[in-house]
Amino acid sequence: MAKVQQRTRMPSGSETVVLERDSQHEDVKVANGASTPIKPGQWGRAWEVNLFTSVGVLVLLTACPLLVLYFYIACDKYQCSLTTPLLEVYYGEATLHDLWLKAPAMTAKAWQIGAIWLTWQIFLYVGLPDVFHKIIPGYVGGIRPGALTPAGLINDYNVNGLQAWAITHIVFFANAFYFHWFSPTIIFDNWGGLLWVANTVGYAVSIFAFVKAHYFPTSAEDRKFSSNFVYDFMMGVEFNPRIGKWFDFKLFFNGRPGIVAWTLINLSAAFKQYELYGHVTNSMILVNVLQAMYVMDYFWNEHWYLYTIDICHDHFGWYLGWGDNVWLPWMYTLQGQYLVYNPVELSTFHCLAMWMLGLGGYYVFRAVNRQKDLFRRTNGNCLIWGKPPKYLQCSYISSDGKKHQSKLLLSGWWGLARHFNYTGDLMGCLAYCMSCGFGHLLPYFYIVFMLILLIHRCLRDEERCRAKYGNQWDKYESLVPYRLIPGVF
Ligand code: NDP
Repeated sequence: MAKVQQRTRMPSGSETVVLERDSQHEDVKVANGASTPIKPGQWGRAWEVNLFTSVGVLVLLTACPLLVLYFYIACDKYQCSLTTPLLEVYYGEATLHDLWLKAPAMTAKAWQIGAIWLTWQIFLYVGLPDVFHKIIPGYVGGIRPGALTPAGLINDYNVNGLQAWAITHIVFFANAFYFHWFSPTIIFDNWGGLLWVANTVGYAVSIFAFVKAHYFPTSAEDRKFSSNFVYDFMMGVEFNPRIGKWFDFKLFFNGRPGIVAWTLINLSAAFKQYELYGHVTNSMILVNVLQAMYVMDYFWNEHWYLYTIDICHDHFGWYLGWGDNVWLPWMYTLQGQYLVYNPVELSTFHCLAMWMLGLGGYYVFRAVNRQKDLFRRTNGNCLIWGKPPKYLQCSYISSDGKKHQSKLLLSGWWGLARHFNYTGDLMGCLAYCMSCGFGHLLPYFYIVFMLILLIHRCLRDEERCRAKYGNQWDKYESLVPYRLIPGVF
């Protein structure tokens, strides 16, 4: 296999290592160690599924909904103790059936709230063109192009999430302090009933997307099938399912209703704390503010998220359909929920330390992501930490057989570790958890989950990038050998 490697000085002064792959049939080592010919457009979720993956998928499909339910029951009936219900069962004081009887009831009110919520978010997404990008300096919204899909398409997206988030929150505050149409604790008060609604929506959307992928796909070329029905259902078949021109499943369900709801759920918990105890604790304020920064960052940079793994690599299946509707709203907001049942007042030192950890984590997270965005947007014609960037010039082939160029940044944060943005994210997550004190395990579930999620994401992303870039990715890994913490991992 012919391969050309050379160092070139770019007109901008940037240094580039050029690795040219000249064949569609180049051999690369894949994760299982076999030498497999790379096929055009072969990145994204797997084509082939082994027994281990099949079993894992089945376990996740069954265990995740039960885990969410267990956490809800633990909070609602056991003051957020994760161990007490299990110990009761272990010592024969209760049966699993007794636990099941503690599951929340389905209520008409929850269905009503769910229906209004979803209709409202759909209206804000497809019915209200973005005006924020016209009036807010520096904000990028409106109709934006996405990344190149494996089939070689570029989709346009309706980026108006910041507007949807802002309008929804203005209505929430206007209601809480002026109109009083409904209680600001409405989400917390109906949290159990809403769990059934969200599960129904999550499963309905996933089943619909699966059927749609088979019978009326948006882009037939951008589908992936394996011989495993359950894996396909979980990881998705269609890459970018849409209804009409603008209702994009991934952008909608990824950001709204789940992420718009995140800050409302936290606010509802804060209002509940006030209603129950007559004041809001510093820990609740900390959790609300730090998580609101993360959510606002997401919407401020929604155009940029079009280039992240969720949109660029993942297909739309149960993983996103159920995950965005149930897992995210219930498991990412555990700290706020916990603090209603266990109002923690932090010492000044503890509180300041958490602010520093949370803000520091956010700074790293944003700075790393911004650096990649700047580098890719300017095609390397920028300064990284005051110097022209170093990068690896790569090529890849989309499934239409066309060859494309890409660059992997080797300097700045991206020279320190391959996923330093995840490190910043994890620092923020730790701050949310530690803001809840040390009374219970439950609020710490989030950092454990994010650690697993992001390490798994590192591995998934690297496997995909290896499939996409071939041995150019191996070269990149040898130049930037660590994933999260330089010198450690
Ligand atoms: P990244 O933003 O790191 O994107 C990974 C992609 O970037 C790769 O697939 C590759 O894509 C490209 N890339 C990799 N290395 C380089 C490089 N050196 N130079 C230029 N491009 C490179 O990851 P994610 O999309 O996973 O995450 C985005 C953010 O979202 C992160 O900050 C993460 O912490 C956060 N996140 C939060 C989650 C949550 O639940 N709270 C869940 C997941 C992510 P290409 O094909 O373009 O080369």
